[in-house]
Amino acid sequence: MSIEISGKTKVCGVIGDPIEHTMSPVMHNAAFSELSLDYVYLAFRVKAEGLARAIEGMRALNIRGLNVTIPHKVAVIPFLDELDPLAEKIGAVNTIVNDAGSLKGYNTDATGFLRALKDRGVEPGGKRVAVLGAGGAARAISFVLAESGASLVILNRLEELDWAKALAGQISKTFKKEVKALELDEANLKAVLGGADMVVNATSVGMSPRSDESPVAASLLRPGMVVFDIVYNPLKTRLATEAAAAGAEAVMGLDMLVWQGALSFEMWTGRQAPVELMKREAIRMLGGRL
Ligand code: NAP
Repeated sequence: MSIEISGKTKVCGVIGDPIEHTMSPVMHNAAFSELSLDYVYLAFRVKAEGLARAIEGMRALNIRGLNVTIPHKVAVIPFLDELDPLAEKIGAVNTIVNDAGSLKGYNTDATGFLRALKDRGVEPGGKRVAVLGAGGAARAISFVLAESGASLVILNRLEELDWAKALAGQISKTFKKEVKALELDEANLKAVLGGADMVVNATSVGMSPRSDESPVAASLLRPGMVVFDIVYNPLKTRLATEAAAAGAEAVMGLDMLVWQGALSFEMWTGRQAPVELMKREAIRMLGGRL
């Protein structure tokens, strides 16, 4: 069923720059249509200097919800009225809910990552996890893993190792547990992965068009290890393929992408998201099958 836009249609969307390649409109509009909800979802290219006006516009136009993507996830915080405690700890927001003019920020990248793990029956509490990368996604994932009771080592390129150390320090302070940050090199990977239950690739290594690359040598992957590559383009990365071949439990970035969207959808509509449909639409948009 297609959506008929009327005077009562509620508006949601995503703001970012660039925004042309976002998968979110396709996933959300398909979900609204499936549940016959009178909502529409649009993508808005918002430059850094336009962010404050965009959020004022959200209030003025009574936009029900927004996803927030690069480069606004941190910068948007001062313009909101309230923050969910997890989003506050992470210091980044990817979802805004507008309740009668009051704007509350959430981070469903973090909770979506956890839901994708849960779908595979993986409970992070007590696990020893190597997080590769210290960018925006690594930050959300590291906080939520620490909050879930996992122990972490963060590995990042030497150029930005100080950044990774600062992130490790913040998590150590927040959760009162030691988190180390090490250089992402072969020797450290070998040492850390030797004692790890799970590895999360939160770098952009392996992302299209450089899909022949993997951040982890195949020889370090082993049966029973959980390997979560959050890169979703290509759908099946070299790391995911090699993890499956090694008998590891490979979790795909697509699952995190779909769950972050589904959790936003549920907050805006109060309805359970049609997760499988959203996943099919995302796969279709990425031009593939699994
Ligand atoms: P970001 O903030 O730009 O961080 C990128 C990270 O990758 C940094 O730690 C960076 O290291 C590292 N990196 C980049 N090139 C590298 C290389 N050649 N070798 C080693 N490390 C390298 O990006 P982000 O938003 O965190 O996104 C990271 C990836 O996750 C992207 O592929 C993105 O599409 C994906 N993602 C997926 C989802 C999902 O729902 N599945 C959600 C968010 C992001 P430096 O700090 O040294 O620069």
